[in-house]
Amino acid sequence: MPFYKINGQPVHMRGSKLPPACVAAVGLALSGQGPCMAISGFLCDWPTVKGRTCDRALCDAHAQPVGKNKHYCPEHFVQHKDASRQLGLFTSLVQP
Ligand SMILES: [Zn+2]
Ligand SMILES: [Zn+2]
Repeated sequence: MPFYKINGQPVHMRGSKLPPACVAAVGLALSGQGPCMAISGFLCDWPTVKGRTCDRALCDAHAQPVGKNKHYCPEHFVQHKDASRQLGLFTSLVQP
């Protein structure tokens, strides 16, 4: 039986075709907070190895939109932002 957290309350849901719970970490890592556990509506689309994606289950709050039907988990969204920033810096060096 899948287990979710809704509004901070643990909830067990009945059903066979339920989405996985959101795995995004909430709160500070050091404070020992667990994953979000909300009902997910998205999967991380960050490409990992050839033809595969990160596929972390993400709820509405944690799926970071990066394009049409494309979402990244918070961790990969940071990497994505870093990559774009570096690219921007590189471009500005090449074209002063
Ligand atoms: Zn979440
Ligand atoms: Zn990811």
